[in-house]
Amino acid sequence: MTIARTLLLGACLVLAAACGSDGGGGGGDAGTPNKVLVFSRTTGFRHPSIEPGVDAIRKLGDENGFAVDHTEDAAAFTSGNLAQYRAVVFLSTTGNPLDGDDERVAFEEFIRAGGGFVGIHAASDQNETSQTEWPWFGRLVGAYFGGHPLFTARPTGDASCQFQTITSCHDGVALIEDEDHPSTAHLAQASDASPPRWDVYDEFYGFATNPRGTVHVLATLDESTYLGLPGQLSAAGVMGEDHPIAWCQDFDGGRAFYTALGHDTMLYANDAYLKHVLGGILWATGAVRGDCG
Ligand SMILES: [Zn+2]
Repeated sequence: MTIARTLLLGACLVLAAACGSDGGGGGGDAGTPNKVLVFSRTTGFRHPSIEPGVDAIRKLGDENGFAVDHTEDAAAFTSGNLAQYRAVVFLSTTGNPLDGDDERVAFEEFIRAGGGFVGIHAASDQNETSQTEWPWFGRLVGAYFGGHPLFTARPTGDASCQFQTITSCHDGVALIEDEDHPSTAHLAQASDASPPRWDVYDEFYGFATNPRGTVHVLATLDESTYLGLPGQLSAAGVMGEDHPIAWCQDFDGGRAFYTALGHDTMLYANDAYLKHVLGGILWATGAVRGDCG
């Protein structure tokens, strides 16, 4: 990334609303307030990191010029209500969080009108009913959760990853594939390696299908950094050489960003991770550019 481009991105991060010509969602018209909705309804597993995640996204909004509303009420998904937002963040939603036809249609219309979607971690964890009834959401998020490995507990691990003596989180390395996208540029700049490496501690999802080919992959996991080591209890979530972990796509008239990282509560106090999420939100709102086609 050039210095000029870095400065421009910096200015965009400060003046989030000023850098996108195609505006945001709810329509992309200039009149749409710079506001995002965080949705965290769970009908399956509930992550302890949801509450810290909501607080962290509110803080990102305060510091970067966008307002944040939070709800766990699917009834918030009406065309009239969604029109005030540029993006909707599904923060570790699980199961079948948007189970009404009217709510689903309202959300599809929001995306088709140029709105943004940000999926974090369990947003890909949809139950069979959702997968069967609403395949559109599966295409929006890019892939469904497939599984994750388990390990013997790390004494210093955070409680949000632990089940008695085992943990779902591990130290690992993500390889940055897009060094320019606003969600990954800072990670590329922080590494001297090629491809750039991001050391991260979290629960590492694998997916039922590899989304490459339908999405623009931003980062992959180097499975050799966390699989096959002493202490690994389960091989769930293995994808092999090509293991996308964050991606984006221009989808059905709108923009969709997804990162599988975000299980561990500690990530919501981790600067590198929060900039990753911030870049995804700003891109999804249309505030900053990124090549996701
Ligand atoms: Zn998780």
